[in-house]
Amino acid sequence: SLCYLNGDYLRLCDAKVSVLDRGFIFGDGVYEVVPVYGQRLFRLRQHLVRLERSLAKLRIPNPHTEAEWLERMRRLIADHAQRFGAPDQLLYLQVTRGVAMRDHVMPTGLTPTVFMMTSPLKPPSPEQRHHGVACVTARDFRWERGDIKSISLLGNVLARQISADQGAVETILFRNGYLTEGSSSNVWIVHEGAVLGPPKSEHVLEGIRYELIAELCEELGIGFNLRPITETEVNVADEIILSSATKEVLPVTRLDGEPVGHGAGRGKPGPVYARLYEAYQHAKAV
Ligand code: PLP
Repeated sequence: SLCYLNGDYLRLCDAKVSVLDRGFIFGDGVYEVVPVYGQRLFRLRQHLVRLERSLAKLRIPNPHTEAEWLERMRRLIADHAQRFGAPDQLLYLQVTRGVAMRDHVMPTGLTPTVFMMTSPLKPPSPEQRHHGVACVTARDFRWERGDIKSISLLGNVLARQISADQGAVETILFRNGYLTEGSSSNVWIVHEGAVLGPPKSEHVLEGIRYELIAELCEELGIGFNLRPITETEVNVADEIILSSATKEVLPVTRLDGEPVGHGAGRGKPGPVYARLYEAYQHAKAV
């Protein structure tokens, strides 16, 4: 299907950027991943706000207004829908600082490189939803600016591989004994019926689902609280839930090989997950 590169719509195999692009040389750029249901961009406004924030932290000017972003995205989505019959899509966008001779100091006045592509959305399988997924834990050895949605993802790649090597779906990370997030998802626990998540900080990416899950909990009358969560609290949690654009909400039923939860529900997706999942599907449909 078509992708977008610096004003042009072209086939993915024809899209080329300079070897001097600072995205290639330094990983000097940011990205967003937006789910598209039918042909509707889900929570686009929030993604554009986060993009703006990430760009500002790196002093990269936002190359487009909201209307310009939308127009370009719509064209890609329509093209994809026409070719593949409008299944759900995932829109990836990335902005790098641009092309310049290699120098660590940020050059000013560059034209940012803008790239976007769509792909078919691959949601968790019915089997994963029904049984939940296995995760492993690891020390959070990434840098201390996880709040920036940076294309420099080597720390996240290394973290993710720890679980991949063990046939698990995500690596849940802890910094100084406290929960931060997964390699490419946010992590929530259920404690005494309430959903708990780590506070927003420079160690955690504020996923678009932070706000969404807070809204869904409010709607459902489920307690919601952001506070530091210890590794022990995760290990004894009633439920553990992952969230991301592609995972939506997804139950973790094994952690480091041990079943999650207590009593009859041990090792099974929990009731709070089930309610959140259903509310999430409603939110997608409106
Ligand atoms: N944390 C990290 C490190 C991520 O890469 C992601 C992206 O999927 C998330 C959290 C979840 O963010 P979102 O809900 O916006 O997809």
